[in-house]
Amino acid sequence: MRRDRQAKIVATLGPGASSRNAISALFHAGADVFRLNMSHGSREDHRARCGVLRDLESATGRPIGVLVDLQGPKLRVGTFVRGGVDLERGQALRLDLDPAPGDETRVGLPHPEVFAAVETGNRILLDDGRVALRVEGRGDDFAQTTVEAGGRLSDNKGLNLPGVRLPIAALTEKDRDDLAFALEIGADWIALSFVQRPGDIVEARDLAGGRAAVMAKLEKPSAIDSLAGIIELADGVMVARGDLGVEMKPEEVPGLQKRIVRACRQAGKPVVVATQMLESMIASPTPTRAEASDVATAVHDGADALMLSGETAVGEYPAETVGIMSRIVRAVENDPLYDTLATAPEATGADAISAAARQVARTVNASAIVAYSVSGATTLRASRVRPDAPILGLTPKTESARRLALAWGVHSVHTEDAKDFADMVRRACALSKREGFAAPGDRIVITAGVPFGTPGATNTLRIAWVD
Ligand code: PGA
Ligand code: MN
Repeated sequence: MRRDRQAKIVATLGPGASSRNAISALFHAGADVFRLNMSHGSREDHRARCGVLRDLESATGRPIGVLVDLQGPKLRVGTFVRGGVDLERGQALRLDLDPAPGDETRVGLPHPEVFAAVETGNRILLDDGRVALRVEGRGDDFAQTTVEAGGRLSDNKGLNLPGVRLPIAALTEKDRDDLAFALEIGADWIALSFVQRPGDIVEARDLAGGRAAVMAKLEKPSAIDSLAGIIELADGVMVARGDLGVEMKPEEVPGLQKRIVRACRQAGKPVVVATQMLESMIASPTPTRAEASDVATAVHDGADALMLSGETAVGEYPAETVGIMSRIVRAVENDPLYDTLATAPEATGADAISAAARQVARTVNASAIVAYSVSGATTLRASRVRPDAPILGLTPKTESARRLALAWGVHSVHTEDAKDFADMVRRACALSKREGFAAPGDRIVITAGVPFGTPGATNTLRIAWVD
């Protein structure tokens, strides 16, 4: 079973898609990676969904990526006496450490680091930016504010501080527990929310211990200041436009998306564009024109994968949404104006071979590039150069095959490592045929490291006829 597109789709699971049938429908509609969002749902739900995915994997013989998204230090206000208040522009509102339920004059905010970091004049946004406050003064345990944009503010709503760098780590206690849980259920990717600096990734990497790849969610402007360092330490990146769009001006987000995608492409790290891609399909069977255009733009930008959140987690048309996204991606990839733009090789054997494979495949019109790689690292380098031919990634490690489900243009197959040169060619030809990538008479391009079984030794390129 092969997909007919190269950019991948990540679908979030939730109450709207949680039965065996619903998850299977998402997969068959085109979802390559599934996201379990630790901000919602119980552990039992997540564990059960992960089990369904692994069953589906065995039934279809296709590696599926599981991405566990940690909540991170999402700041939230406390509760109100009557469940919420209606705030009016110009009125005063005090935020403080008092856990007592709030009213029109004050509300609890159990985050002393916020009071230490804010300055007079800072903007505080609540409930995804629906309510805005301006800081008039602060102390160690309070901030006095004026309401700039009023509205209803109810219990436990999220809070954003645009442009303020908070001295908090990206991993909370809950995140550490959830990370251990993610490893226990066999997650392939772990996403860290609200990463602000490269150091935030180090702890998660240590805890993951190589058992899962680590993705940095970029959703704070302060992360952009150390973009290169974050990309270097992370295995992958998410352009988390939900929170990013609250923390920055709307007009800044599209350019930033391009910049982040380009930097990740240069580094060869998979990059996901996320949030509100087909938002209206939560309640409608067709997307808006603007949404179709947004999905297309992310593909033109060169993203590895596009993500659906509420559309599949709680929407009324989960499989239809994946189907539409898949069709938009395919249309872009078949558009003569679509340009994948090769990325220049770095000075390594893997990059030299990958760049050559792209060129050779184009010259001999090969129907696939077959990349042998144990860790998947070389397969990612092959994906980085965005060849015209699809990449068949062969690996003896199930974990590598699953992680690569996120990578642009890669169709992974779990198989034994080649025994010798003849076996390498035979196996590549047989699997290309079996997986629907080549027919007798076609040519394929094979890359591998010889002697076999030596990690990081990609040094060989072979053209083979499929018989
Ligand atoms: P979230 O992350 O859905 O966990 O908030 C994605 C985003 O902010 O875009
Ligand atoms: Mn977010």
